[in-house]
Amino acid sequence: MESHELLKNHHLRITPIREKVLEVFLTCKGEAISRLTIENSLESFDRVTLYRTIKHFKDRCVIHEVMDQGGYARYALCQKSCKETGKHSEHLHFHCSDCDRTECIEGEINLDIDLPKGYKIDRESIVVNGQCGRCS
Ligand SMILES: [Zn+2]
Ligand SMILES: [Zn+2]
Ligand SMILES: [Zn+2]
Repeated sequence: MESHELLKNHHLRITPIREKVLEVFLTCKGEAISRLTIENSLESFDRVTLYRTIKHFKDRCVIHEVMDQGGYARYALCQKSCKETGKHSEHLHFHCSDCDRTECIEGEINLDIDLPKGYKIDRESIVVNGQCGRCS
């Protein structure tokens, strides 16, 4: 029933596909998953509807997008702060080169990098690589 509440919280109409997609995200909480993972978790779906659902969720700060190594989008559930501020929270993503999982790392980002003048880091999409706690 958590998906119901989430949809209601974001003032989204409850539809079967929205509910199902959200269920997938809730079972993978904290992890960024690809569209393929979502598709594989659904018994049946319409590609266009799924595409729209993902876009809608993104616009409403239900989920956010993270690019994986191949430049493909993965999606993860937004943190509560997203909804409060109305924009996607800035946090780090950790990609494990062993198990290929991408996780959201909560908390402030402290980047001490000297960038050339005029350069800006897109903090929403920072991904670091390494071995996760399960693999190291
Ligand atoms: Zn967000
Ligand atoms: Zn791992
Ligand atoms: Zn994230």
